[in-house]
Amino acid sequence: MISTMKNYVTITDRNIFQTYTRYPVVLVKGKGVKVWDAEGKEYLDFLSGIAVCNLGHCHPAVVRAAQEQMKKLIHVSNFFYTEPQAELAGLLTRHSFADRVFFCNSGAEANESAMKLARKYSLEQGNANRFEIITMQYSFHGRTFATLAATGQNKFHKGYEPLLPGFRYIPFNDISALRKAITPRTCAVMLEPIQGEGGVNCPDRTYLAGVRELCDKHRLLLIFDEVQVGMGRTGKLFAYQHYGVQPDIMTLAKALAGGLPAGAMLANKQVAASFTPGSHASTFGGNPVAMAAGVAVMNALVQGGVIENCRTMGTYFMQRLRALQKKFPAVIKEVRGKGLIIGMELTGDGRDVVKKCLEQGIIISCTLDRILRFLPPLIIKQKDIDTCIEMLENIFAKR
Ligand SMILES: *Cc1c(COP(=O)(O)O)cnc(C)c1O
Repeated sequence: MISTMKNYVTITDRNIFQTYTRYPVVLVKGKGVKVWDAEGKEYLDFLSGIAVCNLGHCHPAVVRAAQEQMKKLIHVSNFFYTEPQAELAGLLTRHSFADRVFFCNSGAEANESAMKLARKYSLEQGNANRFEIITMQYSFHGRTFATLAATGQNKFHKGYEPLLPGFRYIPFNDISALRKAITPRTCAVMLEPIQGEGGVNCPDRTYLAGVRELCDKHRLLLIFDEVQVGMGRTGKLFAYQHYGVQPDIMTLAKALAGGLPAGAMLANKQVAASFTPGSHASTFGGNPVAMAAGVAVMNALVQGGVIENCRTMGTYFMQRLRALQKKFPAVIKEVRGKGLIIGMELTGDGRDVVKKCLEQGIIISCTLDRILRFLPPLIIKQKDIDTCIEMLENIFAKR
């Protein structure tokens, strides 16, 4: 068994691009909050494939929906209509501000779609010189050329210059910085309502309303990237719903189809009208199997229970993490988040904590080297959170 795991690590490292720093663990199975490696070791998953498996691993309704759809029809072109695409689009528009959905396959593609739509809409409003998009420092929007340029973190840009022009980065949660950054060339503001990769940064209560107000005043489009925080993660179906603010465009991916690849760009009717036949397309976008899985995910989320659990467990987890902070003030600087996206900023490097947790059977992650990030499935139970807290307490006590 041990040789099997080593074998796959070796084959992978020899044959696959070395773009990821991987742990030497081959995962073979998942159910609910748990995953297992090729040696049979069990892990509690507080990462959920980076906020993807919000309903837990291999949720029975998602598995069933995908299996049933696979037997019927796996793929057709977007020259035709399909049932699952219609159903998921209907669910998404019914439960959000949006009137129209464009389906693609990933977060980056969803953001590409959003930015293309923003430029085209502005052009059609008669503003040929308005193409700039304001984004935030420490944002993350993807790895394609446009989304890379939109991402306000230099470390991702290195080696890929010159970047696509037309972006301007400002500090998140700073309304006067936005006021100063708007020029006659600005066409849109794009931001994550809560920054994920940038360290789980939550805005002040009124910030997003302030952004909305400035966008309205200058007739700019407001784009929310909810790729990480959408689909129930923050304790509401979409993060913007906490702040009483609606965007013009919103992007989704990660948890949208319960682990199958899917992305979506949603917009209100007026803005969506700028995309006409031929404006934009995706071969796999709206794939029937992914859409069927997405319908199962949406139904599970809106039918109740899961998002409520996310809220109560989020509050409980946060409370216990804050108690740890009180106990280890020299190690833990801050605990922040909403629902079940929680960051714990340490005073030093957190990567060794992630490794120790993994050795002891809990998967967590770390962003910007110092911020432990917890993204458990929204179905997590109190006893699993207790296990995680105990483990962290032991690790911090030995630091
Ligand atoms: C993960 C992420 C993306 C990129 O999604 P991919 O599916 O990896 O292209 C974009 N925006 C945010 C906020 C993300 O967390």
